[in-house]
Amino acid sequence: MKPRHFSRIGIIGAGQLGRMLALAGVPLGLHTTFLDSNADAPGAAVAPVLTGAFEDPLPLAELAARSDVLTFDWENFPAAALGALGGRVPVRPSARSLQVSQDRVHEKALFARLGIPVAAHAAVGDLAALRKAIRRVGLPGVLKTRRLGYDGRGQAVIRDAAAAEAAHSALGGRDLVYERLQRFSREVSIVGARSNAGQCVFYPLAANCHRDGILRYSTAPHAAAALEKSARIYLKRVMNALRYVGVLCIEFFVVGGRLVANEMAPRVHNSGHWTIEGCVTSQFENHMRAVADLPLGSTRALGYAAMINFIGQLPDPEPLLRIEGLAYHDYGKAARPGRKLGHCTILRSLAKDRNLALQNALNSIKMT
Ligand code: ADP
Ligand code: MG
Repeated sequence: MKPRHFSRIGIIGAGQLGRMLALAGVPLGLHTTFLDSNADAPGAAVAPVLTGAFEDPLPLAELAARSDVLTFDWENFPAAALGALGGRVPVRPSARSLQVSQDRVHEKALFARLGIPVAAHAAVGDLAALRKAIRRVGLPGVLKTRRLGYDGRGQAVIRDAAAAEAAHSALGGRDLVYERLQRFSREVSIVGARSNAGQCVFYPLAANCHRDGILRYSTAPHAAAALEKSARIYLKRVMNALRYVGVLCIEFFVVGGRLVANEMAPRVHNSGHWTIEGCVTSQFENHMRAVADLPLGSTRALGYAAMINFIGQLPDPEPLLRIEGLAYHDYGKAARPGRKLGHCTILRSLAKDRNLALQNALNSIKMT
């Protein structure tokens, strides 16, 4: 019998996210082809990579010819380039979902329209606009590039008005957004998936610890029933509004016991890596299932997990692998300061045992 689902998945971007997606597709009989500018990208270890510039229509057309459906591991792909495909192959999530999440101002406008709280903010062009934004939004605040920021890049904290000019020119002087610095008690995120038929599933809430704008570690499930309920409602609103297909993540600040949305990612997310070992069906598998038109799998947690990123350099795996049940993920990337090179996950039956194992692992890799 000819299967009704898609089995040839084209993934734009062959980074670690793409690699984990392709791996999750293997037992389901899903075949991945990647498009990336780098032939040695992490995905190359598990599936063929077509190489070419993302804005070049030819390699993209070739990827489309070899695939039943296209998806992404990287949201900064120029969404307009998809227009050249003329709808010959479905793109999931859609170009519109990408476009919204590529621009922090559009993203916040969507959140606000859907009744999801966001920090006070203002779009900023020239320096006069920044001065006006600072008066309106208040101090301290964060100036960010509207587009292309990640891992805390393209951001500057402004604590007094005198620092405005330097921050403004350091970030290129245009297409910026100024937002009020949130005094949060915690950062949390929710990852979920929506199928083309509108089925939605949600993973348990994760608590995220960032340093210098980069995610250091996450713990999940983060037992905070009221927050999780709000997070699910907000994520569902966004997924339905965009008629989203695939995995979507929203990051929040917890301020005064309530959620304030920070940003969303139209893809599998670093704060969901724990689901590989920590849930019945991982975020990667559910994304592949969603884009392939297969039923979504259970998001039930199997215990209490901690996920630690390896940033800048890979730790010696030996002491870590002596920690019971620790899963070690090396993305096969060249070391560079601030770069995510791998992660590890620990799973325990009790939250207190997880916390202990997390401390051991952090000590072992000298991150506290
Ligand atoms: P990126 O795209 O780099 O992840 P984010 O907007 O998520 O950008 O910022 C990265 C981190 O910087 C956040 O997780 C948070 O720790 C900090 N940060 C960003 N914006 C704010 C804010 N308005 N108030 C407080 N902290 C912030
Ligand atoms: Mg972020």
